[in-house]
Amino acid sequence: MTVTRFAPSPTGNLHVGNIRTALHNWLLARSASGRFLLRIDDTDAVRSAEEYVDGIRADLTWLGLEWDGEERQSARLAIYETAFERLREAGRVYRCYETAQELDLKRKVLLGRGLPPIYDRAALALTEADHARFAADGVAPHWRFKLDHAEPVEWVDGIRGRQHFEAAQLSDPVVRRADGSWLYMLPSAIDDVEMGVTDVLRGEDHVSNTAAQLQMFTALGANPPRFAHEALLVGNEGKLSKRLGSLGCDAFRERGIEPQTIVALLARLGTSQPVEPIMDRARLIESFDLATFGRAPARFDEAELERLNHAIVHQLSYSEVADRLPAGMNERAWLAVRPNLERVADAADWWRVITGPIVAPEFGEEDRAFLAQAADLLSWGEDPWGALTSALKDATGRKGRALFMPLRQALTGRDHGPDMHALLPLIGERRARERLDFYRQG
Ligand code: GLU
Repeated sequence: MTVTRFAPSPTGNLHVGNIRTALHNWLLARSASGRFLLRIDDTDAVRSAEEYVDGIRADLTWLGLEWDGEERQSARLAIYETAFERLREAGRVYRCYETAQELDLKRKVLLGRGLPPIYDRAALALTEADHARFAADGVAPHWRFKLDHAEPVEWVDGIRGRQHFEAAQLSDPVVRRADGSWLYMLPSAIDDVEMGVTDVLRGEDHVSNTAAQLQMFTALGANPPRFAHEALLVGNEGKLSKRLGSLGCDAFRERGIEPQTIVALLARLGTSQPVEPIMDRARLIESFDLATFGRAPARFDEAELERLNHAIVHQLSYSEVADRLPAGMNERAWLAVRPNLERVADAADWWRVITGPIVAPEFGEEDRAFLAQAADLLSWGEDPWGALTSALKDATGRKGRALFMPLRQALTGRDHGPDMHALLPLIGERRARERLDFYRQG
């Protein structure tokens, strides 16, 4: 059984990049009839906040990405402690005391010599007497995971193909801070084992973490999950923009972007499959395939998002939008105005056109006479617009734009809009007469 997880750190709101990762994990699980877990990576007590946890849940719910189980790391500290003890006994974690400044200096020296800034493992040479001295001075150690340099790291990435790392080319990762708190890498590996995660799908920025984590899985005596790393998302300008990093569900909602639009776009962006206004999730699930994911950065184009959103809005059923429409606006009215909308909120403008009052333009003498005639000929039946325009055509000889435009303007106050066959019955006989009778009086 396929088990995937979305593991955000609740230190901020979800942005497009996170949303895309969540969606792909959801699609991967659903396409394999598996389970999709939400794991709150909140080991950083200082930066994590409950409001962000709530925000993450609300965003996933809004997007329709239901999850099958939820865990949070802050509730699992005892599990990490036990696993850590085992690693300690096996000599796979070791104590270090370098300060951030010292480490920074070491890195700079190496970089200055044109060498990769790999941690030099100086702490491995400390004796028990050294440790005792630090302890006596009240200096607590932080802990690094000891990579096995004899064991090269390899995996077949679901997107990037065969990956190879020399462990010696990586720094031993810090897994625990001096205050006892955890960095994300080790708890994440422990959780993936404990939760039976079969597939870790995440951003390319985690590739070297995966190399280290693969050795953690082995050290924990577990089989690692499959890994896939997707290319990052870039903005129109081709760079990882600041803007994308803060663009989240609230901003989308405010702009009238539907969750279905975000899902349809992000499901296919960066893959060889076309981005289409697909509302049917079953279709997105069925066609989801990691093999179609490209290695080039995926470009997030706001204009494409807007276009896709229009196409999605044009497919929304009344029941999907009813709670966002003005009071009284019924299904018939929604279906009449829907083809003219760029966003659902614009339906309110057309509802005002229907219910009035409207402001019609100033007409010339000829058009006024024509509209007075329209008032005389207006009859109310099955298709008042069809009846009115054919009667007027016969009576005046007008056709095309000369026939339709003054009528549309006088009845709606606008030059363009929904099909008048659908709109006029909604405006109704009383208001239609009122709007045309105005021209009879001179
Ligand atoms: N909390 C980590 C992050 O947000 C999780 C990474 C992962 O998916 O393993 O980067």
